[in-house]
Amino acid sequence: MSAPPSSAPELSVVVPVFNEGGNVEALAARLAPVLDRAVASWEVLLIDDGSRDDTLSRAKGLNERDPRFRTVSFSRNFGKEIAIAAGLDHARGRAVVIMDADLQHPPEMIETFVAHWREGYAMVFGQRTDREADGPIRRALTRAFYRLFAAFGETPLPDGAGDFRLLDRKAVDALRAMGERARFSKGLYAWIGFRSKGVPFDVAQRASGTSKFNARKLFRFAFDGITSFSTLPLKLWTYVGVVVSACAFVLAMYFVIDTLMRGVDVPGYASLIVSVMFFSGVQLISLGIIGEYIGRIFAEVKRRPLYIVGDRVGFDEPDPASVWVARDERRRA
Ligand code: UDP
Ligand code: MG
Repeated sequence: MSAPPSSAPELSVVVPVFNEGGNVEALAARLAPVLDRAVASWEVLLIDDGSRDDTLSRAKGLNERDPRFRTVSFSRNFGKEIAIAAGLDHARGRAVVIMDADLQHPPEMIETFVAHWREGYAMVFGQRTDREADGPIRRALTRAFYRLFAAFGETPLPDGAGDFRLLDRKAVDALRAMGERARFSKGLYAWIGFRSKGVPFDVAQRASGTSKFNARKLFRFAFDGITSFSTLPLKLWTYVGVVVSACAFVLAMYFVIDTLMRGVDVPGYASLIVSVMFFSGVQLISLGIIGEYIGRIFAEVKRRPLYIVGDRVGFDEPDPASVWVARDERRRA
């Protein structure tokens, strides 16, 4: 979707919002003065990810007071990663900032981001210096995930880099060219390359409400991350198979020699059961891993639209349906 270039602002700010009714106005109030200082012209795109509270009506109110605040509203909850993709699709700026709605990402940082962008960096990202804002369990699991990702992944991730970042237009276009459904943004940012710069920042406490990520969502997210950036979990089983077969061969030789020298005796029942159960388990795990990948292949080949737009606020161009049609045509091109 391309808007007339005359109306294109210098900077677009994309904010995924899911049940953030309590934060929308506070965010807008803090953002506007920062953006006025930082750039000549701007727009803020709230991507309403199927909120069930008053987020959408508050977003409409914002747009009435200041038309630079626009909203794309999904027909249901599609997840933050998809909301970011929709934001990049609708953003018209020469650069795009992605940030959370809950003021954990300090808006004042945008001035620094823009300064580095003007120096020529295509990507400027906020690097969290601590994770105090998360609970201890989530912190430990996050650390474990990133260690696993580093061990398995073929794409190294910069330390502490999240979604809070500025992307130049060319980086935005590169991200939009990737049509995959399982969107692990952190990996995608790293994969596209470009000259990047990290800016350390302290993550603030959530302004209002609670985290919109429950354990289930986080685990899906972690799985998506690993499986879209590594095929090692698939290949691993070849090596496991080789090692197990080698052990079995050695054991077989031992039994042959032992039988020849000492004759037949009744072998242990317990060791038999244990090894049968152990190797059934190994086989089921490897099947499950293959299933995960096949499930993802299935989701990709169905080529469903990435998201369905239910409502748009502050747009005068194409109807919602054309958004995903445009996506599909882009993929075929
Ligand atoms: N979010 C979203 N869809 C979701 C979950 C979250 O758009 O399904 C948004 C949420 O409104 C917020 C951002 O993603 O603006 C980050 O979410 P949250 O603050 O809950 O995550 P955390 O800070 O705990 O990682
Ligand atoms: Mg948050």
